[in-house]
Amino acid sequence: MSKQDKTGQCLCGAVKYEGLGERGRVHLCHCPDCVRWIGGPFMGLLFADGVTVADPAAVNWYQSSDWGERGSCRTCGTALFWRLRDNHRTTIVTAGSLDRNDALEPIEEHIFIDRKPPWYEFADDAPRLTAAEFMARMQGQ
Ligand SMILES: [Zn+2]
Ligand SMILES: [Zn+2]
Repeated sequence: MSKQDKTGQCLCGAVKYEGLGERGRVHLCHCPDCVRWIGGPFMGLLFADGVTVADPAAVNWYQSSDWGERGSCRTCGTALFWRLRDNHRTTIVTAGSLDRNDALEPIEEHIFIDRKPPWYEFADDAPRLTAAEFMARMQGQ
């Protein structure tokens, strides 16, 4: 995987980032917070060793839950990151913000499928986890 497969940026270019380590596959979250923030399901992926941002001050961090915060560009508002508050190495980047978002692997899974709005469906056959199933898995780790 070349460096270009791990870089991304916002619409205006003020935020440029690079993923570190192995790139994971795309996960979709259908929870109400994600749908409100993005305007649809959150499509994101994780890099094994985190993400570096060229100009961290260009990112606005919003705490959206006890455990997570969401990062967007201060200038253009592009939704870029979700991260664990107490472990910034766990930073999910939005799949669409990657420079080569046309070359990603197929979707790995959907989460919070029971919270999905009824007006859209995805045609893939990736696993679909309910909120309870997902939270149980997180607490088991
Ligand atoms: Zn921007
Ligand atoms: Zn979500």
